[in-house]
Amino acid sequence: MSSLREKLLYKAPCAYSVKDADFDTVNSFCEGYKSFLNNAKTEREAVAVAVAEAETMGFTPFDRNNTYKAGDKVYFANRSKGLVLAVMGKQGMENGANITVAHVDSPRLDIKQRPLYEDGGLAYFKTHYYGGIKKYQWTALPLALHGVIIKKDGTKIDVCIGEREDEPVFYISDLMPHIGGRQSEKPLGSAITGEGLNVIVGSVPLDEESDALKLAVLSALNEKYGVTEADLITAELCAVPADKARDVGFDRGLIVSYGHDDRVCAYPSMKALLECDSPERTCICIFADKEETGSYGVTGVTSAAYENFLSALCRCFDADFATFCANSTCLSADVGGAYDACYGDAYDPKNSAYVNKGVVVTKYTGSRGKSGTSDASAELVAKITSLFDREGVAWQTGEYGKVDEGGAGTVAKDIARLDIEVVDVGVPMFSMHSPYELASKADVFAMYKAAKAFYTL
Ligand code: MN
Ligand code: MN
Repeated sequence: MSSLREKLLYKAPCAYSVKDADFDTVNSFCEGYKSFLNNAKTEREAVAVAVAEAETMGFTPFDRNNTYKAGDKVYFANRSKGLVLAVMGKQGMENGANITVAHVDSPRLDIKQRPLYEDGGLAYFKTHYYGGIKKYQWTALPLALHGVIIKKDGTKIDVCIGEREDEPVFYISDLMPHIGGRQSEKPLGSAITGEGLNVIVGSVPLDEESDALKLAVLSALNEKYGVTEADLITAELCAVPADKARDVGFDRGLIVSYGHDDRVCAYPSMKALLECDSPERTCICIFADKEETGSYGVTGVTSAAYENFLSALCRCFDADFATFCANSTCLSADVGGAYDACYGDAYDPKNSAYVNKGVVVTKYTGSRGKSGTSDASAELVAKITSLFDREGVAWQTGEYGKVDEGGAGTVAKDIARLDIEVVDVGVPMFSMHSPYELASKADVFAMYKAAKAFYTL
């Protein structure tokens, strides 16, 4: 009876029960991941960290006039916010490449261009939220400021304040419950407004004249960075949660952190690629920007920057770009929703991804009637999942939630537009898009093994 059960029934295994995925191995991989989470909270920081690591592993900036051979390692940074890492394969470029795409932007609060004002005895920065957030989650927690200020003469000033213990943090207040009667009767989505997400940046007036709080903040900024109020117009600053990634649970099996989505796929796929030596097919790892706002913009995956890089790579080998695309395969590596028993109503428990069951292979995404989906072919799903089985990768299937609850899209449709076969594979996530998301270490490690296996395709 038990053999019949094994033969006929399907059950996704536990991510700890596949080979080479004991807790110590998983845990030590995740220590590196936690450092990445802490040091790469924005797309610019993720690209900088990845470029530095790639250079130590022998990657050089791509030069379209160069000739390359199997085993050569190059990178192409797209305006400091996107990145492509490539290791040339032994097979010709017309045989296609194994490509992973993960995004390195995350939901956050962008600082408006004219942010600084004072009211009620405090100085504030006005914000405009980036990506899909539940606004009420972003109040009453310590925030750090990250980004750049570009001065009129082109000088770039990197800003990162609130991450070190000895640095100040920033804060958005909320109404006390004692007088929050009317607020608490509002729907979650409107109790806190976008225009209400104002970050406290100062409280000690310079003197008793007008604009004394603004001036105090500006003089602190001027002292630290040499900037004026006008320079904030040409800045890209954002507020992100200030805390570091931490282990969760007595057994330390989970990680709580800002920005898992989508460092949780970006980091493992980068690690797997950096370890690629003389692969059969060319292997490519893309870090994309702007996914959280629709993948538009010159650094988003819909930008021709990525397509142009791939076609320049083909030209270095005198390979036909269209043939390269038609023979390439892509993992759209992005987070999936983990079944959350506390909100079980929102899920189809028979078609959900579960914690510690490995990466989620998602044939289709989209909203309601699969709107906006790429929908991977059954052929590709079979090819990828049999590869994962062969290579001991813990994997499962899972939809975001119930059919009528909503849904989401990924970059899969944008990759498919290039005539590249693509399927979504990622890590299941709790509290997605909240300031502190939750992921399982075993699932993070499964993503690393999935990318390692995929690069051997
Ligand atoms: Mn994502
Ligand atoms: Mn997202």
